Amino acid sequence: MPVKQAEFFVSNSDPAKCPKPDRPEYAFIGRSNVGKSSLINMLTGRSSLAKISGKPGKTQLINHFLIDNEWYLVDLPGYGYAQVSKTEREKFAALIDGYLTSRPNLLCIFVLVDSRIEPQKIDLDFMYNLGEKGLPFVIVFTKTEKLGPTKLQATLDTYRAKLLETWEEAPQFFVTSAVTAAGREEILSFIRPLNQE
Ligand code: GDP
Repeated sequence: MPVKQAEFFVSNSDPAKCPKPDRPEYAFIGRSNVGKSSLINMLTGRSSLAKISGKPGKTQLINHFLIDNEWYLVDLPGYGYAQVSKTEREKFAALIDGYLTSRPNLLCIFVLVDSRIEPQKIDLDFMYNLGEKGLPFVIVFTKTEKLGPTKLQATLDTYRAKLLETWEEAPQFFVTSAVTAAGREEILSFIRPLNQE
């Protein structure tokens, strides 16, 4: 079932100012340029709910969108800009950590990775950090229409093997494309039952 209603709710740079945790929420995060804005627009069926290709170094904000008056979709700032200072990186880490550890209604974090790129340390470190905090997350492979089925399967296998070096079980994978809308139903069908729990 597609999203019926998607509206911008609030942006802020202080986790304490996020909306009251009165609805289930799901956060989306990944390296800058991974395709997060495109994925959010694809999931919600809106062409410009999230801003595509924002300039690196812009103010880093936590954006809440209200979906079907039922749940929050949270667009977290992209990590891994090459040209940021150590101070900015620390500020970013504090922002994300502050957010992740202060939302009792955060039911799942969608960690986006570009399916065309080998597993990256920065993504794996981010996932290990989530694991250590006991925060539930899944992995979303983006831009998968760029790969043929064999290459795609090899990418998924490589990722799974890498994760199983650390964990006994790999998190759930979603294979997506903002171009073909692949993965939309899978992600929405994953979210909806969690909302009812
Ligand atoms: P963000 O920085 O993570 O929000 O990434 P954007 O959504 O702005 O996308 C970054 C670039 O990747 C843009 O040029 C998009 O057009 C492109 N892109 C995003 N999703 C896809 C996809 O599914 N397939 C392809 N081929 N390109 C994509």
